[in-house]
Amino acid sequence: MNTIKLRIACVQYNPRIGQIDSNISHVKRLLLSSNLTKPDIIILPELAVTGYNFKDKDHIQTSLDSLQNIQSGKSIKFGQELSKLYNCFTIIGYPEKFQGSTIYNSAVLISPIGTILHNYRKTFLYETDEKWGCSENPQRGFKSIDVVFDREFYTNPDPQKNYSKVRTNFGICMDLNPYKFEAPFNEFEFSLASYIQGAKLILCPMAWLSPLSPSITKVSKYELENENEADDSTVNYWILRFFPFLSHRNSILPKSFGKVNVVCCNRIGLEDDVLFGGSSSVIEFDSTKGLDEKINSENPSVNVLGSLGKNTEGVLIRDIEVELD
Ligand code: GLN
Repeated sequence: MNTIKLRIACVQYNPRIGQIDSNISHVKRLLLSSNLTKPDIIILPELAVTGYNFKDKDHIQTSLDSLQNIQSGKSIKFGQELSKLYNCFTIIGYPEKFQGSTIYNSAVLISPIGTILHNYRKTFLYETDEKWGCSENPQRGFKSIDVVFDREFYTNPDPQKNYSKVRTNFGICMDLNPYKFEAPFNEFEFSLASYIQGAKLILCPMAWLSPLSPSITKVSKYELENENEADDSTVNYWILRFFPFLSHRNSILPKSFGKVNVVCCNRIGLEDDVLFGGSSSVIEFDSTKGLDEKINSENPSVNVLGSLGKNTEGVLIRDIEVELD
């Protein structure tokens, strides 16, 4: 199996709601101070520079971006700027305005020359998305796409050359959960769809809540102890949601897929009573490693290549090995 190495840079920080310009400057500063050289992919969180917990449809209006008129918005333009600056691919989450009044929670994949290669719309919504009038992705099924992660293909393609592709899938936060928290837990809709389609790289911009978020716990006061450490329960929950990729004794799925890399790029901070949980992680699943009954990071097929703290800002930089189609 042919593989390529990709350097992933995953940006975790606390975007302030509606303050797009200063959020953009903040991300630039974080990247500059991170010693990042030659990234292949920069990934940013869900609604990366706009903030997430908007009160209603009016509140989010000035933060929307439209693919038809990129110049009028700020998120996609910033993604293009980063791609060109670092000569890399960028994934940035943003609130999308579509045909007048429809709003989606989307993420774009941008090439090193700034072209939009793909726009993914969140399929499973969280209650916060509904507050600001977000619509579900009308296309169900979490469809993977094949991406050439070779700069040459975009800048100076050789017509004689057959450029290898990476089967890639995108999921935004709640997409990892059971639909509306109502579907059976073990349907694993997103990860099973990725598994069946043979995805090798799974990129997830997130605004995932801390288990201590006042919005979901009865506890009125929260304390972030050891805030420089990732929240193990969150990282292990993500691993569990990728059950089809675990070498697990009770799994009936064939383990012939080799390696899969998952990037969970989360944010931190508090917006009203919603506390985000950080813990951004790069996780490798290797089906050739062992069979076990563990459903967490201790399963031999799981290798957490790195995580950020539950309340730290920073850039997680990891080189991953990705199988080609
Ligand atoms: N269920 C997820 C969480 O608890 C969803 C959040 C989201 O979709 N932004 O964080």
